[in-house]
Amino acid sequence: MNSDKTTILSSGGVPRLLAAALLATLCACACRRPAPPASAPAASGTASAIAAAKTLAAALDTVSGDRTLANATAFTDLGPKLPGTPESAAAADWLLARFAEAGAPAEAVPFTDPAPAGPQSFRNVVATIPPAPGTVPDGALPNLLLFAAHYDTKSGIPGFLGANDSASGVAVLLELARALAVHPLPGTEIRLACLDGEECAVQYGPRDGLHGSRRWAADLEASGDLRRIRAFILLDMVGDADFTPTLPRNCAPALLHLAFEAARAEGVRNRVSLFPGPVLDDHVPFHDRGVPALDLIDFQYGSAPGLNDYWHTPADTPDKLSAASLALAARLALRVAFSLP
Ligand SMILES: [Zn+2]
Repeated sequence: MNSDKTTILSSGGVPRLLAAALLATLCACACRRPAPPASAPAASGTASAIAAAKTLAAALDTVSGDRTLANATAFTDLGPKLPGTPESAAAADWLLARFAEAGAPAEAVPFTDPAPAGPQSFRNVVATIPPAPGTVPDGALPNLLLFAAHYDTKSGIPGFLGANDSASGVAVLLELARALAVHPLPGTEIRLACLDGEECAVQYGPRDGLHGSRRWAADLEASGDLRRIRAFILLDMVGDADFTPTLPRNCAPALLHLAFEAARAEGVRNRVSLFPGPVLDDHVPFHDRGVPALDLIDFQYGSAPGLNDYWHTPADTPDKLSAASLALAARLALRVAFSLP
């Protein structure tokens, strides 16, 4: 199966890789690089570097794999989360409560988007953590750092609960919120979004899949905030007990470098690799707008190397996850966040 990546990635009968290429082509004419940020500079200099290293160490210390696994299991136990359903609304309420407990107040952002069966209701959940106090010059706007994970589950698969796809990313997002609420970044506001409608209903296209990320990116572009974004970091399928991140090539090279350096610092550099090609995921609407984007994803998810037989099947259950993998994903994301240029 490893030799046929389009089979591994196919969703709704259409190769995800092909869909990515098509979407990239569609977006190419509309994409432009954002102007340099007219906002607060990142921390620099020896003193601030030492302070940042101390803050990173403290943030890493707060990460609990057991708590993250408990959240992933609890979220999975809520059942399927198809957009627009009462179960999805209940999941969003659960997220709002968990973000509040983590010290990162969140709000639900409902919207309607064209979908294959007609206009469809969706709901993103976005938490905000302000910059460290006193680190944004008067009159300046803070930079932005975005984290995201999708929380909807794939439709059309009886018994599918999505422990790894999507509860793992959601649980890591909550753990990042808890760490960063206590140890915020200087000069940078953090937003963490649980995105709706990542999964396609039929096949990926302008009206199917990536609904939450496309809306969020469009809203940030319309408000002029896109240019303040230092990075967009996506967490998807990050709980596999055999955690071997496969970083898509349609990510910002600088962020890929930071991810590999983070893995080296964690002593797991040999577990992280570049995926052979691009992947269509929630980072694409940002990547295509020139935002530095990273998709922290492990697309190897099965009972044996290359099988991928847990992905989009009823076998995607919490017993396939591990606390150590979830903690590692959170730690890698924190290391990247604290090493941004
Ligand atoms: Zn999926």
